[in-house]
Amino acid sequence: MAPVKKKIAIMTSGGDSPGMNGVVRACVRMALHMGCDAYCVYEGYEGLVRGGDYIRKMAWDDVRGWLSEGGTLIGTARCMEFYERPGRLTGAKNMVLNGIDALIICGGDGSLTGADKFRAEWPSLLDELVEKKELTKDQVAPYKHLNIVGTVGSIDNDMSGTDATIGGYSALSRICEMVDYIEATASSHSRAFVIEVMGRHCGWLALMAGVATGADFVFIPEKPREDNWKEEMCSIVQKHRSLGKRKTIVIIAEGAHDKYSNKITPEMIKDLLADPKGLHLDTRITTLGHVQRGGTAVAYDRMLATLQGVEAVKAVLEATPETETCFIAITENKIVRRPLMQAVIDTKAVAKAIEAQDFDKAMSLRDTEFADQYASYMLTTTANLSTQFQLPKDKRMKIGFINVGAPAGGMNAAIRAGVAYCISRGHEPVAIHNGFAGFARHHGDSPLGAVRSFDWLEVDGWASKGGSEIGTNRELPKESGMEHIASLVKKYKFDALFLIGGFEAFHAVSQLRIAREEFPSLRIPMTVLPATISNNVPGTEYSIGSDTCLNELIDYCDKIKQSASAARRRVFVIETQGGRSGYVATLAGLGVGAVAVYTPEEGVSLGMLEADVRHLKDVFAKDKGQSRAGRLILINEKASKVYTAKLIADIIREEAHDHFESRDSIPGHVQQGGVPSPMDRCRAARLAIKCIQHLENFGRDAADRVMSDPMSSTVIGIRGASVVFTPMKEAEEKETDWANRRPIDEHWMYMKGTVDILGGRPAYPKPE
Ligand code: ATP
Repeated sequence: MAPVKKKIAIMTSGGDSPGMNGVVRACVRMALHMGCDAYCVYEGYEGLVRGGDYIRKMAWDDVRGWLSEGGTLIGTARCMEFYERPGRLTGAKNMVLNGIDALIICGGDGSLTGADKFRAEWPSLLDELVEKKELTKDQVAPYKHLNIVGTVGSIDNDMSGTDATIGGYSALSRICEMVDYIEATASSHSRAFVIEVMGRHCGWLALMAGVATGADFVFIPEKPREDNWKEEMCSIVQKHRSLGKRKTIVIIAEGAHDKYSNKITPEMIKDLLADPKGLHLDTRITTLGHVQRGGTAVAYDRMLATLQGVEAVKAVLEATPETETCFIAITENKIVRRPLMQAVIDTKAVAKAIEAQDFDKAMSLRDTEFADQYASYMLTTTANLSTQFQLPKDKRMKIGFINVGAPAGGMNAAIRAGVAYCISRGHEPVAIHNGFAGFARHHGDSPLGAVRSFDWLEVDGWASKGGSEIGTNRELPKESGMEHIASLVKKYKFDALFLIGGFEAFHAVSQLRIAREEFPSLRIPMTVLPATISNNVPGTEYSIGSDTCLNELIDYCDKIKQSASAARRRVFVIETQGGRSGYVATLAGLGVGAVAVYTPEEGVSLGMLEADVRHLKDVFAKDKGQSRAGRLILINEKASKVYTAKLIADIIREEAHDHFESRDSIPGHVQQGGVPSPMDRCRAARLAIKCIQHLENFGRDAADRVMSDPMSSTVIGIRGASVVFTPMKEAEEKETDWANRRPIDEHWMYMKGTVDILGGRPAYPKPE
């Protein structure tokens, strides 16, 4: 693809963010893979201005193990000189002296503004260098066009034109971890905590943390509360307390203010909550500060960093002098190139709109998920306290909630949000315990009490709880006895069913849908929210729980890799879950830098193993002990009936002839995760509310409409940036590979090639 060999430099700039190292690793390796030279500019623009040792040529192994490192290993700095033309002039000279013809920058909007200015000025900078006799005409001749590509590394997730910035979800994860800790002490002492998080112009971190932790109140810059915010906050906290809640959490973005731009500080909130004449709560302030930046990147950021780094190199190589400067974004789950300056202008427009107190505009400039999350937050924490959202009595429904399949992170968060929404509308949310097996066998007066109404306080603390609080089971309705299930639905007078679970939940709705012909009690609306670590449910690109699983897996793999630092020459073959879908193995491979990933979609063959063993032999022959961590191979549990993780590890050991060794390792149920990831929790809340709203559209006694409307049995999904309901019949017939229990079209398949390239895996014979 590369017409000429280029020298591509990579730099990190502005505030550091988790995932920057992943971008550098991906850029360096992809550049080398494409036959180019790779350079790193150390210390951001400072390094470009200083030149010399700040600009270093990079080799493949120089970036080994970088995916799991926090911060940025090539340093970053705020560089005053680069704001001025003389600083940029020196930078240009250093680029030419090092022969660099393309620059990839990972940073925030400031860094990318600087980059665009540099590119625009480039021809005049070269002229000036020749004029001042610092460089000759011949020296600058090959560098007429500067090629710049940006990637957005920022914890605030504040850049327009992209759904996520590299580092945003890692920072959110750290915040939620801290809030979870604080909640324990808040609850023990019945205290209130005011927690300040980063975000001067962007409330994304505060809002998402509020949704993920079920905070009582949040303050964000884009959407200040009404004039009576003090009374509103106190009355909500008071109501929550009167319902029996022992803890109060208020999350405030550092840029919070009221509608008139008067700053709202954590101290002001503390004074209100602690007021002896009012709530009189024992209140503390916690400012999270720099811990929010700290630590290794979460799975999502590693994926983003890697895919964007690869795309940045491609963009550099495909650019012509006429190409507009771009940055790499993620929209609709796809990695895309977007005009850089427009995004910078739009980003600045949000801050301007906030300044001008045009908050509707500020909100409209954020993506749809932001607005949706704001709505879900308001619906789950405040709406239930007022009667204004309640439906007339004849429209209120009795909705059964049921988990089917294995537990997955976010199931409880989905139930919490669904229940809160139901209560706000006047519906009766009912728990069906332990799946269809529980429903069928423990109904009636059983001590296990399979069918029970939820109350708000019971579920309020579930936002961060892992597993399934109402219990789950794999049994399908047909196995429990369809006639029996239909009679129970009739007995309990359910008006709708809300299923949360994996492929079994999908299958269960399919069975119930078909059984409607025979059993009139099943002529009620039903919808399934995909929740499984395997991410193998048709109708969606993302199932809740899969992000938690990936985080557990990369955490596990990082530790295993590190454990090899003493022994050094070791290969680990790790078996992942995922059923017949290679999603988890592939994405984890992308996140930890595996040398090979074996999936059920591709299978495993002797020829493939032979090629991989030969590659490992080469790798260890060249490695004189400089690389500290072990190598990883990931294999999905169903990739092969014969070649198990243990057998592959044995083959490698046998072939290695003591030059290196090999072990197998099976994380097993650890992959279901402890505390669900914030992404799973937030998406669970958003999707659950949409599910109940969808069911609500049908109302009670809707048997005729149910039988004629394909939308009466659906699966909800995230496809690209949109949330969509797909009729079950369509999903079953057109999108499902029933034999392999996965979607026919798996959106993530293209990532497999990236894992192979960046792991340095040579071409191998594909299994037949
Ligand atoms: P963060 O989101 O963490 O704030 P950022 O990239 O926006 O990251 P800045 O401090 O704004 O961080 O910018 C980083 C560096 O980029 C600056 O120190 C400066 O060297 C360069 N830079 C920023 N804005 C410009 C500009 N308008 N012109 C030239 N250089 C700039």
